[in-house]
Amino acid sequence: MCQACNDKIELLTREGADRRNFLRGGAALAAAPLAASALAGTAAAQDSQNTLEASEVQAWATKDTSGSFAPQMIKRRAAGPKDVVIEIMYASICHSDIHTAHGDWGMPSFPLVPGHEMVGRVIGVGAEVVKFREGDYAGVGCMVDSCGECENCRADREQNCLNGTTFTYNSEDKVSGGVTYGGYSKKIVVTEDFALRIPPGVDLAGFAPLLCAGITTFSPINHWDLKPGERFGVIGMGGLGHMAVKLAVAKGAEVVVFTTSEDKIADAKAFGAKEAYLWTDEAALAKNRASFDLMVSTVPVAYPMQQFMNLLKLDKTMVNVGALFPIEGAQGMLMGFGRQSLAGSMIGGIAETQAVIDFAAHHGIAADYEMISPDQIGEAFKKVVNKEARYRYVIDMTKA
Ligand SMILES: [Zn+2]
Ligand SMILES: [Zn+2]
Repeated sequence: MCQACNDKIELLTREGADRRNFLRGGAALAAAPLAASALAGTAAAQDSQNTLEASEVQAWATKDTSGSFAPQMIKRRAAGPKDVVIEIMYASICHSDIHTAHGDWGMPSFPLVPGHEMVGRVIGVGAEVVKFREGDYAGVGCMVDSCGECENCRADREQNCLNGTTFTYNSEDKVSGGVTYGGYSKKIVVTEDFALRIPPGVDLAGFAPLLCAGITTFSPINHWDLKPGERFGVIGMGGLGHMAVKLAVAKGAEVVVFTTSEDKIADAKAFGAKEAYLWTDEAALAKNRASFDLMVSTVPVAYPMQQFMNLLKLDKTMVNVGALFPIEGAQGMLMGFGRQSLAGSMIGGIAETQAVIDFAAHHGIAADYEMISPDQIGEAFKKVVNKEARYRYVIDMTKA
């Protein structure tokens, strides 16, 4: 393992020129331009101009909380000077898509086009774009804009923008008006600052889930500075949890999984976890008491957390990234005895998202997934809720 992978990403805390260079330069593994020479032809240049114009795009939308999807045309704006136009190839299904579509977090704006894990090909670049050329691969995650000027944005925490992050779907669209539409669609237009560079040669479909599941679990590993040899607990091993295992194993940590699905125990070990247990295994909980340096809870619903808080060492932290609901079962007396912290974390900044993509490429990590077609979205939603996903459903937009 290289030293760079073990180091905390100091770059993320810097402001000013370093940050701008990082965002614009992309990573060392970033894609080489593939099609720049093609622009030499007049016809190609004309095509390029056309791709920058406003367009109607095929999408898959739900009109109510039933979770059923149907084709729908949506508008994508004309690309501005700093925008890139991405032809979406793969979009994966995050549990947040399901919570939003079902109205679990309040009634969304219908028609709703979810999707905040997408990878595709750049087919158009505005005149001032410096990070991409046509033919590059690019990804878009959970955000498409933020103010760029507040304290949090300047610290590369665009997801915590004090003036309101623009999320990729069901968010006020401050550029075009209306609401934003996500990745269950054939094309997206986004400022280059919120597009991620995807290195050539990787499994593009397996990289889509890095845009939310990957960064959501990588950010706590980075922020709480998980070190090689430290014990890292993962509670729940679905889309987020299986990325947490792979990323922490690549960091050299000793990973232990707690799952409710018996068949996932073998999977956890195949992903590199040292141990894996069922939640109901009381002997395992007793054996692991006060033994963890960091834990991450990826379970997408509220559940009594204290039995896992008890597994942390003194002064250590449980980071909840799954349940965006009132926390259940945290017990003040027990947390006091163990002087443990319960923390929240939500996705990660753009620079940090680029870092997890590059980290995954370097270590040969991608999500485990099953490819589906757009007409299977509704069925896949049900399977995710029933814990049947192994471990992400990726919608193949190339065949749509
Ligand atoms: Zn997500
Ligand atoms: Zn801001």
